[in-house]
Amino acid sequence: MDSAKPTHDKNDGHFLRPWQDVTTLGETEWTFLENSRGVYVTDGEGNDILDGPGGMWCVNVGYGREEIIEAVANQMRQLSYFSPWSMASSVTTALSQKLAALAPGDLNNVFFTTGGSTAVDSALRFVFFYNNCLGRPEKKHIISRVNAYHGSTYLASSCSGKMPEKANMDMIEDTIHLLSCPKPKDKPKTQSMEAFCDEKVAELEDKILELGSDRVAAFIAEPILASGGVIVPPDGYFEKCHAVCKKHDVLFIADEVVTAFGRLGHYFASEDVFGIVPDMITTAKGLTSGYVPMGALFISNRLIDTIKSASNESRNFVSGFTYSGHPVAAAAAMANLEIFEKENLLEHVREITPYFEQKIRSLEDIPIVTDVRVKGLMAGVECELDQDNPDEVRDAEFLYTVDDICQAHGLLVRPVYNSCVMSPPLTITKPQIDDMVALLRIGLEQAYAQL
Ligand code: PLP
Repeated sequence: MDSAKPTHDKNDGHFLRPWQDVTTLGETEWTFLENSRGVYVTDGEGNDILDGPGGMWCVNVGYGREEIIEAVANQMRQLSYFSPWSMASSVTTALSQKLAALAPGDLNNVFFTTGGSTAVDSALRFVFFYNNCLGRPEKKHIISRVNAYHGSTYLASSCSGKMPEKANMDMIEDTIHLLSCPKPKDKPKTQSMEAFCDEKVAELEDKILELGSDRVAAFIAEPILASGGVIVPPDGYFEKCHAVCKKHDVLFIADEVVTAFGRLGHYFASEDVFGIVPDMITTAKGLTSGYVPMGALFISNRLIDTIKSASNESRNFVSGFTYSGHPVAAAAAMANLEIFEKENLLEHVREITPYFEQKIRSLEDIPIVTDVRVKGLMAGVECELDQDNPDEVRDAEFLYTVDDICQAHGLLVRPVYNSCVMSPPLTITKPQIDDMVALLRIGLEQAYAQL
């Protein structure tokens, strides 16, 4: 360890972080991370810490990948920027071709963005544009769900349904509607899972009918509600919601910012895991494994062709960013995808998922663990200190203690409300899964013992 370096950042009030309590600016201590390799980050004291959340569900191929580092450096030497308004760059063109080939169905049109929020924002703006082009400007309402997270721009945050986080922040309310969360744990004990699923799907259809299908433009949904705590809807839910949308001419936007690029063992989960081809897919994170910011919105040929055939007038989609299709990010994405291919990473995820699930579920014997949700390499371990008197604030506080204990023992945890979220790099091995779960158990048991 370099003794001159601080190991904690009190930030002195200059770095206002996402979601920061402004009243604590300059007072909170943050651990410096100084190094990283594979599934581990290293703190300022030289401790290796297993990265349970995989950054923010983004470091899919793991840290320290020379192939990506080289590709980025070479691209910077060659061409560090081009204007997407007026020029082309071979790496960005190659990436768009590669992504179109990987994407399901006719989702062949790639609109590059700077991250997930801007991908969602662009999707929603495209929906509005589409309906304007088709001469139906009143078809603008968007349906989303409680506990969904779609990002932090104005439109994307308005579609998010993490209710406690909306206080003090202005949101679009008149044209955005939230359905209840399809969380199986909330199902009444006497109701079958199928009936619960049908009830949630009926809620979508009822909302469309209430607003009028001539006014509802789109339904936006994550296949797994990730930042809502890894909520896995009942089997068939996504497919049935898609059918309802099709029936009422409502566009279906699958927000795969977390689930695309391997998290569920496929490049895209919509078709391969959930059996649907949506009208649009939003992605980011795993596209570059977090090495460089980049997002991508996939738009179906059907939508583009419909606009083309609607009129002979020119139709400019007046939306985009200085960094749309940035060549350095594109080089990172290409190198990232090459790692997926070279290392058969999708097969690895599919192969290791049952082990991951079995290990995570072994935590169910801890009395305060009241729900364990796993899909692919993402998991939510829900904890309630007193099931008869649920208190999410108290339980969230408890999980911050769990997080601290785990970090001291060598594991990063990401508490979301009353759940510990795990989404490690996809390269994780069975012994590393053993360590991760053993450390999480230590954190949960010690925190409970301290109460
Ligand atoms: N959509 C989903 C499903 C996400 O989980 C996130 C971020 O976690 C976003 C959108 C926003 O992505 P970003 O933070 O890159 O803007």
